[in-house]
Amino acid sequence: KDIMDKVSKKFASSRHETEDLSEAEQKRQAIEETQRSLPIFPFKGDLISAIREHQVLIIEGETGSGKTTQIPQYLHHAGFTKDGQKVGCTQPRRVAAMSVAARVSEEMGWKLGNQVGYSIRFEDCTSERTILKYMTDGMLLREFLGEPDLASYNVLIIDEAHERTLHTDVLFGLVKDIARFRPDLKLLISSATLDAQKFSEFFDDAPIFRIPGRRFPVHIYYTKAPEADYLDAAVVSVLQIHVSQPPGDVLVFLTGQEEIETANEMLLERTRKLGSKIRELIISPIYSTLPSDLQAKIFEPTPPGARKVVLATNIAETSLTIDGIVYVIDPGFSKQKSYNARTGMESLVVTPISKASSNQRAGRAGRVSAGKCFRLYTAWAYKNELEDNTVPEIQRTNLGNVVLLLKSLGINDLINFDFMDPPPHETLVLALEQLYALGALNHQGELTKLGRRMAEFPCDPMMSKMILASERYKCSKEIITIAAMLSVNNAIYYRPKDKIVHADTARQNFFRPGGDHLTLLNVFEQWAETDFSTQWCFENFVQHRSMKRARDVRDQLEGLLERVEIPVVSSPGDTIAIRKAITAGYFYHTARLTKGGQYKTVKHQQTVMVHPNSSLFEEHPRWLVYYELVFTTKEFMRQTIEIENLWLLEVAPHYYRAKDLEDGSGKKMPKMLGKAKEDLTRKY
Ligand code: ADP
Ligand code: MG
Repeated sequence: KDIMDKVSKKFASSRHETEDLSEAEQKRQAIEETQRSLPIFPFKGDLISAIREHQVLIIEGETGSGKTTQIPQYLHHAGFTKDGQKVGCTQPRRVAAMSVAARVSEEMGWKLGNQVGYSIRFEDCTSERTILKYMTDGMLLREFLGEPDLASYNVLIIDEAHERTLHTDVLFGLVKDIARFRPDLKLLISSATLDAQKFSEFFDDAPIFRIPGRRFPVHIYYTKAPEADYLDAAVVSVLQIHVSQPPGDVLVFLTGQEEIETANEMLLERTRKLGSKIRELIISPIYSTLPSDLQAKIFEPTPPGARKVVLATNIAETSLTIDGIVYVIDPGFSKQKSYNARTGMESLVVTPISKASSNQRAGRAGRVSAGKCFRLYTAWAYKNELEDNTVPEIQRTNLGNVVLLLKSLGINDLINFDFMDPPPHETLVLALEQLYALGALNHQGELTKLGRRMAEFPCDPMMSKMILASERYKCSKEIITIAAMLSVNNAIYYRPKDKIVHADTARQNFFRPGGDHLTLLNVFEQWAETDFSTQWCFENFVQHRSMKRARDVRDQLEGLLERVEIPVVSSPGDTIAIRKAITAGYFYHTARLTKGGQYKTVKHQQTVMVHPNSSLFEEHPRWLVYYELVFTTKEFMRQTIEIENLWLLEVAPHYYRAKDLEDGSGKKMPKMLGKAKEDLTRKY
C-alpha cells in the first residue's frame, strides 16, 4: 500500500507538473514533434545545401511530406530572410494560401499577418515585416506590375507546380527570365510526385531534389456498374463506411460548393434519422469560398469514438493535407474550365478526372496507415475512359487576362514567350481580338490608355472594362457593388432543404426589373441600409459571410477607383445607365431571342438558356447580356440583364455594326475586319 501511495503521489505530482507546463509550451512541443515526424525533416540539411549550391532546384515529394509548410521555415532558419528579404511561396488556390500561412505562423509562434502572411485577390494579410509570404500564383503575377524584378524576394517557391494552373504556367516563363538577370535569386519549383522531369527540362536541366515518401498501401474498390447519381452514392458510401469499418476519417471528393452543401444536408438528415444507433459523425466541408474560421475545422483532431468526414473539392487532392484520413471516396469528377477557342465561350463543366488525379486522390488514404479508396466508377471506366493527365489550364481557358497582364509588363511578342506548353494559336488570337474590341489594345496590338487602366484591376478584362465604363455613365458606386456581388456569385442565397419555399420567396422578393445584376445591387443596398445586419441576412435567407466578403471586395474596388481617378458617383434608380455600363464590359456575352423562342449568342449562334434562378426566366426579353455560362445539362446563362440592341453600337462601336443588330435577322456577326485583324495578330 505504501508503494501504491508513493506511486499515485508521483503520478499526481507529475500530472501536476504537466499542468504547470504552460499551455503554450505543450503546444510548442507538440508542434516540434509533428515537424520532426514529417518525411522532409531528415533532409533539411541536404536540402539547404542543395539550395545554396544551385540557383534553380526542382523539389519533388509526395503530398503531405512537408514541402509547403516546412521549406520556407528552413529557409528562414538558414538565413535567407536576413535584412527583411522575403521568401515568397505561391499556391494555386486561395484556401491553401490562407490555411498554410495560418499553420506556419502558428508553428513559428508568430501572429498571422506579421512575419508570416498571405496575399490573395482582394485580401492582403501581410505587413511591412512579412518575410514568409504565401500567395496565390495570380497575386505573384500581379506583383510583377509593381516590381518587375521582384527585388524584395530572395527566394521564390513556385509550389504545387504540378497543378499547372494558367497563372503558374505564366509564372514559369517570367521567373525563368528574371532568374537570368538576378543571379542572387533562388528559385524552387516544388511539386507532388508528377512531372518533375518536365520541370527540370524547362528550367535548363535544373537538378531534382527528391523527398522519399512514406506511403501505406491503399486498397482500391470499384463499383460494378456506373453510378447514376454519384452524389447519392457518395453519401451512401460514407454511411456504409461509418457503420461497418474500423476507425479512421473519410475524405469525399466533390465538385463544388453546391454539391458539398447538398451532401452535407443529406448526411445530416440521414444521420439524424439513425439517431443514437450510430457513433458521432462530424461533417467538415472545405471549398474555396468557405470562410477561414470554418476552414480550420477540417484540421481539428477527431475525438475518440467519433469519425470525421471531410467533404472537399479537389483542393484536398494535393494542396491541403488532412491527417487521419483512412478512407477516400472518389466519384471521379471535378469542375473544370473548358474553353472553345472557335466560339470564345468559356464555361465551367463537371468533367471526369484524369488517371493522375484519381491516383493522387487514392493516395490520400494511405498517409497514416493502410487505407481504402472507393471509386464510384468501374474499373473499366478507369482504364478506358480516363485520360492519363489533366490538360494544363493554359490550353483550355480564355487568355484575355494573361495577355493584358503580359502586355502591361511590356511583353509584346507573345508567340515567342517561353511557355512550357504553349496555348493554342487560336486562343491567343481570340484573346487579342477580344482585348481589341474592349479597347484595351490598338490596331497594332499595343496597350492603350484604357488597357493600362484595366490592368490595374485584379479582375477579368470584361469586368475591368465594365468598372471603367461606369465613369462615362456616372454610376461607379452601383457598378462596383455589382462587381463585388458578382465575385461572390452563387454564394449569396441560402437555401436550406427544409425551407426551400421560404427561401425562394425571399430570393424572388429581391428581384428588380431589368435583370439579375440589379437584383444583386438591391440585395446589397438593402443590407447596407440595415447597417450590415446579420439578423437581416438571416431573415432573408442571405448568406452573411458572403455579403461581408462582397463588402470587403467592394471596399477594395473603391480604393482602385481612386487609383485610376474615377470618382465614386451614383445614379440612383437610373437602371439604363447601370445596364449600359455592364454592357460596355460584357457585350461579348450578348444573346438574342430567336423566332423559335430560343436564345442564341449573337456572335456564334450557340443555343443558350436563361438560368431558372434568373428574374428573367419567364420574361423573355429580346436581347440580353449574361455574366457567365455554366454547363450542366445545357448551357445556362447565369446572371443576365435585359438590354436594347442599340446600346451595343454605343458601347462597342469597334465590334458591332447596325446591320448586325437588326432584330430577328439571325445573320452571323462578321468577325473583326480583315485588315485590323491582320495588323493585330502580325504584331505579337
Ligand atoms: P506538402 O506541401 O508536402 O504536401 P504540407 O507542408 O502541406 O505538405 O503538410 C505537412 C503537414 O502539415 C501535414 O501533415 C499537414 O496535415 C500539416 N498541416 C498543414 N496545414 C495544416 C493546418 N492548417 N493545421 C494542421 N496541420 C496542418
Ligand atoms: Mg504542398
